[in-house]
Amino acid sequence: MQDARNFYINGQWVAPKAGTDFPVIDPSTEEAFATIALGGEVDTNDAVAAAKAAFPKWVVSSKAERVELLETVLEVYKKHSDEMGATISREMGAPIAMSRGDQAASGTSHIAAFIRTLKSFTFEHPLREGAENTHIVHESIGVCALITPWNWPMNQICLKVIPALASGCSMVLKPSEQSPLSAVLFSEIMHEAGVPAGVYNMVNGDGPGVGSQLSAHDDIDMISFTGSTRAGRLITKAAAESVKRVSLELGGKGANIIFADADEKAVKRGAMHCFNNTGQSCNAPTRMLVERARYDEAVEEAKAAADATSVNPASQEGHHIGPLVNEVQFNKVQDLIQVGIDEGANLVAGGVGRPEGLNRGYFVRPTVFADCNNEMRIMREEVFGPVLSMMPFDSEDEAIAIANDTEYGLTNYIQTSDGERARRVARAMRSGMVDINGQSRGSGSPFGGMKQSGNGREGGEWGLEEFLEVKAVGGWPT
Ligand code: NAD
Repeated sequence: MQDARNFYINGQWVAPKAGTDFPVIDPSTEEAFATIALGGEVDTNDAVAAAKAAFPKWVVSSKAERVELLETVLEVYKKHSDEMGATISREMGAPIAMSRGDQAASGTSHIAAFIRTLKSFTFEHPLREGAENTHIVHESIGVCALITPWNWPMNQICLKVIPALASGCSMVLKPSEQSPLSAVLFSEIMHEAGVPAGVYNMVNGDGPGVGSQLSAHDDIDMISFTGSTRAGRLITKAAAESVKRVSLELGGKGANIIFADADEKAVKRGAMHCFNNTGQSCNAPTRMLVERARYDEAVEEAKAAADATSVNPASQEGHHIGPLVNEVQFNKVQDLIQVGIDEGANLVAGGVGRPEGLNRGYFVRPTVFADCNNEMRIMREEVFGPVLSMMPFDSEDEAIAIANDTEYGLTNYIQTSDGERARRVARAMRSGMVDINGQSRGSGSPFGGMKQSGNGREGGEWGLEEFLEVKAVGGWPT
């Protein structure tokens, strides 16, 4: 791999002009194993200038050229997939098997899905039958800034870079400073695939630096951001001055509504989903609401699932969870577990401190709180750790009210064998996504939220449209 301090600008690896060194820490050992540079304004400006200069040529590229390029990107990405899995695992702590099988693989499936979408997408069409001389053109929005988080690095990067390329945009990617090495490898993949110089650029940096500079930059037409609601607000404010489009994919506090007639694996499945990726997923089902008739049994099942979840270093093969990403997250999760105890929730599994036998690394104990109420901070705030909060409900209406009583609205989950009820409750959820009985949404589905979970939709044709303007032309010669 490249010297990780370098940035990828205008088709070349360049040394930072104003970078400050920043260590990349292995969360399983707490030891630094690489160094990146956090760019300064001059680096940001260079990358934006390269993207701006490359835009006029790329925007007129044909659909066939873009499909061909994405097919090459897919081929090259697949070739480096195992290396990608290992890189992500080391930098953010996803267990190696899961990192190869889910983290790196999410990139492959998004690239393939966008190739399908691009092939079938109609960029120009008449307004309607009988109005053929009004022509609708879906046209690339321009120069984009793509700002991504560390928890699913390739998932997020591919959900932005690939549709931006497919829609004829040029771009600057600023990956999370907590997961920068996967982005360096991704940039090498883009280079090897032959993405035209300047169309794709990558600058490492932090939020107050490169992130804010991109958000306020006059030559950026759109920001696509995934991360915390806190940063989403700041970006929106910074972008307001130049009235650029801001697409936001933010946090979540998903409810998992388990009715008494749910299948027997529903509780275990929900708990394991909550603990997956060490609880560091925006769509994690962290609030488990259980119909009272099944509640006591469900608490026992969730406890058993937590007790059976092993925690090990990310480099170890097998099925387990790894550490949290860094010390800040470790302290935040520890504090919130203590808050849960102090607020009177019933701690039935896990708790504060590291799991037995792990004295170093940002490891936490898979934790279950029972008898919560929806006012508790562990029910309202995104913990971003393997912490499940449970509470009982007595009626369908009450379950819907609790599920929707949150500032977030990303993903909710329903477990019932009553199809009519499943449809009714799914319609009542104020969230961008709903999964019923453990069935995930098909590849190419729109991913995004309502309320403070954001306003964007990534994936499929919706993910492509995020990067397109709509132009209406009257008097179109037919
Ligand atoms: P974060 O908001 O701290 O950082 C995300 C990115 O934004 C990083 O690249 C960071 O450098 C940058 N950033 C931070 N402050 C900024 C600012 N003021 N201006 C511009 N850029 C700024 O979030 P994180 O801790 O990296 O990621 C975890 C968060 O991401 C969680 O809240 C999680 O729910 C959310 N997330 C959401 C989705 C989704 O699709 N809805 C997916 C994954 C993660």
